Amino acid sequence: MNSTGLARLVLAIAFAALSFSVAGCATTKPQDEPLVEKAVQAPEPPSQSKVAPKLVVLIVLDQLGSWVLEQQLPMLPSGSFIRRAHESGASLVAAYPFASTQTAPGHASLTTGVAPAVHGIVANAIYDPKLGSRQSVDDGEHAVLGNPERHVSPSRLRSETVADVLHRETGGKARIVGISMKDRSAVLPVGAHPSIAVFYDAVAHSMTTSTYYATKSRLPEWLRDFNKANPVDLLLQTWEPADPGKLEKRLGPDASPGEMYPEFPHDPREAPNPWHAFSATPESSEYLIAAAYAAVKAEQMGLDEVPDFLSLSISGTDIVGHIWGARSWEYADNLMRIDRALTHFVKLLEARGPVAFVLTADHGVAELPERAHAEGAAGGRLHGSALVAFAEEAVDLELGAGDWIAGYVPPLFTYTSAGRAQRKEISNILRKAMPKLEGVMAVYDVEDAAALRSSRSEVERLVGASLPEPAPGDLYLVMEPGWFDGLSEEGGTNHGSPWDYDRQVPVLMLGAAIERRTSSEVQDVLQVAGTLAALLDVPAPSGALGHPLPGVMRLPD
Ligand SMILES: [Zn+2]
Repeated sequence: MNSTGLARLVLAIAFAALSFSVAGCATTKPQDEPLVEKAVQAPEPPSQSKVAPKLVVLIVLDQLGSWVLEQQLPMLPSGSFIRRAHESGASLVAAYPFASTQTAPGHASLTTGVAPAVHGIVANAIYDPKLGSRQSVDDGEHAVLGNPERHVSPSRLRSETVADVLHRETGGKARIVGISMKDRSAVLPVGAHPSIAVFYDAVAHSMTTSTYYATKSRLPEWLRDFNKANPVDLLLQTWEPADPGKLEKRLGPDASPGEMYPEFPHDPREAPNPWHAFSATPESSEYLIAAAYAAVKAEQMGLDEVPDFLSLSISGTDIVGHIWGARSWEYADNLMRIDRALTHFVKLLEARGPVAFVLTADHGVAELPERAHAEGAAGGRLHGSALVAFAEEAVDLELGAGDWIAGYVPPLFTYTSAGRAQRKEISNILRKAMPKLEGVMAVYDVEDAAALRSSRSEVERLVGASLPEPAPGDLYLVMEPGWFDGLSEEGGTNHGSPWDYDRQVPVLMLGAAIERRTSSEVQDVLQVAGTLAALLDVPAPSGALGHPLPGVMRLPD
């Protein structure tokens, strides 16, 4: 097919996903259907499931806590992908066994099967004396195509991923693609040797990659065609909810205290940077899913005997969740749009041959403090500048005026060189002082990581599991339940804590080699890597928990 033909096809797919979304609205079931009861009587999966998948797809819904999915399920239409996976696939809850519940450590853990103490990705960003904060995938070397100021590679990831094992075991024949709106979420799950990692760039105004993947500094032809056929400026549209009546009945009024832009409609073109605001719209997720399908076709994934691996991380749930909270109209409408696009995508992939889907999340999220307060629960926002000011003052009181804290990049404080010269003293002072600030539970010196890992306190063990040696900062901060790093003065919410609402995520599996299974037992999310390995018929990554999650069939050789 020539490039014009391919471009037209890609465009058709993108718009098929969009029209599917609109058509999907009419099929919504009455909202009071007892979903949980219905799930128990769900039919057996089709017999196609008793074959080995030729394509394994990891779908990460960024920031989908298990408490959030539980609330959202009744609003998703019957027969949609998420409902289908929940009702007729394996439907489990798993917890991250570490405290730093952020996007980069979560994505790295999903496919390495080890905690940040081992894979080295503690947080989305770490303190850098020159930059203030440096992204986990910024290597300062591999430029992003279309935005040479930005650099992206997986070089900080210390552990092999299931994708690296697949690459090795198949002698490089397996096709391996990571794709997301966020660079870290595209890059980390697919390790060192993917066919490509694709992400969105708000300066390039398009999907792109870095020179780590595109050695000739050129986008692959399929990606150039996709970008040409799907210009983002046409997708910058006013966002109106599909079914305001249903949202009102389920969730109450649209505007709620603590939401950053309380009322619909929302127009990304009114934002200071519309290209950046695009990521907070449902169109961005439909665009991403269309790009993922373009990758599957271009890389001919799932068509031959060698199994292939696609990691698709949907960032829109996270960005919308941060701004409006998980019980907002915006979150619900966005998730319905994503579920519809996924339903379409899954059908297209199922038509290609045996495929297995593993859907999970990189972390959960806290409730908006305003909503928590209204329900008698605690919670609040603490800003990095306030945390640093409080810490500086506490040390000044004991040691005299000085400059002790170089910076705070969640969840770690980094000391100045003056601070490091007296680090034990300063850590002891802050250990006593910081919990006096409302919202702070405790701080831990990163040099105590080994002791923390064998502590009798669960929180301390979770902090220890977050810290590699050497760790990138000096002092790890844990906030009280409901409290978090405030991203904005105006409202919104965040994640990153060791509390269940941030650590527990759903794992839904559907398709080839997956059987119906539910469990009331909370699983270890690190088993996702072993699960993907079993589905791909390769050994688990080195150091990972080897056994798959319940729901993966043992197939005859
Ligand atoms: Zn995330």
